[in-house]
Amino acid sequence: EAKSLGKNKYYLFTEAMNAQVHQRLELEHSIAKGLQNREFEIHYQPKISLKTLEVSGFEALIRWHSPEKGVVSPAEFIPLAEESQLIHELGHWMMAEVLHQLNEWCDQLPAGVRIAMNISARQMAQENFAEHLISLAEQFNVPLSRLEIELTETSILTDEALVRQHLYALRTVGVKVCLDDFGTGYSSLTFLRSLPIDTVKIDRSFVMRLQEEGESRAIVLSVLELCEKLRLNTVAEGIENHQQFDTLLEHGCREGQGYLIARPLPAAKVLDYLRTVVKRA
Ligand code: C2E
Ligand code: MG
Ligand code: MG
Ligand code: MG
Repeated sequence: EAKSLGKNKYYLFTEAMNAQVHQRLELEHSIAKGLQNREFEIHYQPKISLKTLEVSGFEALIRWHSPEKGVVSPAEFIPLAEESQLIHELGHWMMAEVLHQLNEWCDQLPAGVRIAMNISARQMAQENFAEHLISLAEQFNVPLSRLEIELTETSILTDEALVRQHLYALRTVGVKVCLDDFGTGYSSLTFLRSLPIDTVKIDRSFVMRLQEEGESRAIVLSVLELCEKLRLNTVAEGIENHQQFDTLLEHGCREGQGYLIARPLPAAKVLDYLRTVVKRA
C-alpha cells in the first residue's frame, strides 16, 4: 500500500517536472524564434539630473511583443534566457540594435547624454566581452563616450577577476559603469571600494519606501552619504512621486529615473522628448 503510494508520488512528481521542463523549452524556443522574427524592441527611459532637470542619459530596456503571449516582461524572459545560451544572442541583438540607433541619433544628442545597456551576468562572464562591445561600437561608428553599462552585484560575483578586467578595459576607452539594483545583492560595500565603477543606482524597492521613516529610508540616506564621500555618482530608480524626488534631491542624490519623470519611450519618441524638455527648461 505504502509502496504503491510512494511510487505514485514519484510518478506525479516527475510529471510536474516534465511539464515544467517542457514549458521552459517551449519558451526558449519562442525567444529564439522571436529574435528571427524581429519581435523584440528597445525602449529608452530618461535619466535626469535632479538639480537641473537636464537629461543625462537613457537606459535601454528590452521589450518582447510575442504574437502568442502578447507583451512579455524582461523580468520574465531575461532570467530564463540567462539559464541557456540564448542570453548571448539576445544580448548581442540588444547591443547591436542600441548601437545602430545611437549611430542615427549621435549628431542630435546633446553632449554628455549617454545610453546605458543592461548587461547580464553570463555576458560579463565571457572572456571577450569588453573587446566585443568595443569592436561593435567601432563597427557602428559610435563614440564609446556615449555608452554606459549597468551591471548587478550578481554579475560581479560570477567571476570577479574577469569582470574587473572588463571594467578597466571599458573605462579606459570612455565607457561608464553603473552598479544596478544597489542594495538588493550582497558584498555591496566591498564592491564600492574595490571595483572601478562610476555610478551607484539605488534600487526601486528602497525608493518605494523612502517616505516610511524606516529601514529603507535609513539605507538610502546612508548610501547617498557614502557615495558622496567615495565620489561616486548616484542615481535613484523608480521615482514615482514628488515626495521621493524632493527627499532624494535634499539628500544629495545626483540623478533620478522613474515614472514621475518619464516612462520608457519607444525609439521614435526619444528625440521629440529631448526637444520638449529643452523647451521646458
Ligand atoms: P532594471 O535594469 O533595474 O530596470 C528598471 C526597471 O524598472 C525597468 O523594468 C523599468 O521599466 C522599471 N521602472 C522604471 N521606472 C519605474 C517606476 O517609476 N515604477 C516602476 N514600477 N517601475 C519602473 P523592465 O523594463 O520591465 O526591466 C526589468 C529588468 O529586466 C531590468 O531591471 C533589467 O534587469 C532587465 N532588462 C531589461 N532590458 C534588458 C536587456 O536588454 N538586457 C538585460 N540583460 N537585462 C535587461
Ligand atoms: Mg538597469
Ligand atoms: Mg535597476
Ligand atoms: Mg531593478
